[in-house]
Amino acid sequence: MRSERNPTVDPDRIVEKEHVVQEGMDISGHWNRMFEQRVIWDYTPELVDKVTDTAGGESFGWCYQCAQCIPVCPVHVVGDYGPRRIVRRVQTGEDLFNAPDLWQCTTCMNCLRVCPKEVDMLQIMPAVRQQAVLDGYVPEELQAVFKNTLDYGNPMGESPKKRHAWTKKTSHDVPLLKDKKKADIVWFVECYPSYHPRGVDASIALARVLNHLNVDFGILGPEEKCSCDSQRLAGEQGLFEECAEHNIKVLKKYKTRTVMVTDPHALNAFRKEYPALGAKFETIHYTTFLQDRMEELGMTKDLGVRVTFHDPCYLGRHDGEYEAPRKMLASIPGVELTEMGRCKENSYCCGGGGGGMWLDGFMSDHVSMRLSEERVVEAVETGADVLAVCCPYEVSRFEDAVKSTGNEGKLVVKDIIELVVESMGEEITAES
Ligand code: SF4
Ligand code: SF4
Repeated sequence: MRSERNPTVDPDRIVEKEHVVQEGMDISGHWNRMFEQRVIWDYTPELVDKVTDTAGGESFGWCYQCAQCIPVCPVHVVGDYGPRRIVRRVQTGEDLFNAPDLWQCTTCMNCLRVCPKEVDMLQIMPAVRQQAVLDGYVPEELQAVFKNTLDYGNPMGESPKKRHAWTKKTSHDVPLLKDKKKADIVWFVECYPSYHPRGVDASIALARVLNHLNVDFGILGPEEKCSCDSQRLAGEQGLFEECAEHNIKVLKKYKTRTVMVTDPHALNAFRKEYPALGAKFETIHYTTFLQDRMEELGMTKDLGVRVTFHDPCYLGRHDGEYEAPRKMLASIPGVELTEMGRCKENSYCCGGGGGGMWLDGFMSDHVSMRLSEERVVEAVETGADVLAVCCPYEVSRFEDAVKSTGNEGKLVVKDIIELVVESMGEEITAES
């Protein structure tokens, strides 16, 4: 008897063999059925909908589990993370709004770079975090930072009146716009370069260079507040708007046209977020500003060092600036640049973005080592003497990581501008 569907085939010949082995490989039917059938009622679409129904969270539902994001996620390198995994966990019962997964993403953007479906963690995470903040599900460390920023205009809780105290530590002129009224360039110094001792070192070095180049600049000092981009990404949209509106108002008062920033997070805020709140300034990172003026600096001292450079996520991937820092380093006498395996577009993250700067305690329960420690190990592997940076979060993060990974004496961390001033033959700390 012939098959009704295909009369040319004898149904007796259609026998499913228990085992089919071809070229040593088992390709039997049962191989494909080695897993249990999906139990579809174990899925929790309502928890996925909760994210995708949140303004900004829509693309969470576009993930088709291709897993391209996993190997590039810096948190996954030291933990169990990445968009695909988060989506899967939410599909199977995790409420992202009160789960630890919500706070581990540093918004580094590496997953978005490779995701074929444009699942955008830079939108999803701040949106869900914003609701979590309203509901009170916030790690304690972050709550303290939000309160400090609200009360003092900086995440460390330092006195706003002392924001320009660092300028007293240098003999070079760092004028306040309050006194000067007008300047070609407003240098938006930001919090860590104003208060953190190693940030201040870099600020003093940059002041030295700006004076040498006769740049007409001024700072806001006590009139400046945190750009607040990291607090925004950590879910405090209201606080961000308050700080942003304050900064924009002050900058408008001085008829500012060009803002130079030391902090790539401030660069992101000024370029991508502040315009929606009325800002119309051109904003430039200090490396972009200085890259073509290096020969004017009279750098004569041969530093004789091997340097590796860490691309800040918010200067590189977020803003596309990979060359200016390298151009600066290449122009310093005696600097030999050696790249880490993960660099430029695929650069690793220091762990400080998206609120991570203040979540090291929280993260220690979820990762095997800090992202900054992983990066320091990568830097040491290049054989470099110096890990060069140009984001104020990184100096302190990496210096701590050099100590905690036992690499003191092997690697030092320096801002590029510190290397520049050293090559000008000057000390870079107080009174330079
Ligand atoms: S790359 Fe995009 S689509 Fe693929 S698993 Fe990751 S988030 Fe999902
Ligand atoms: S933005 Fe960065 S840290 Fe966050 S999930 Fe994507 S790759 Fe991981």
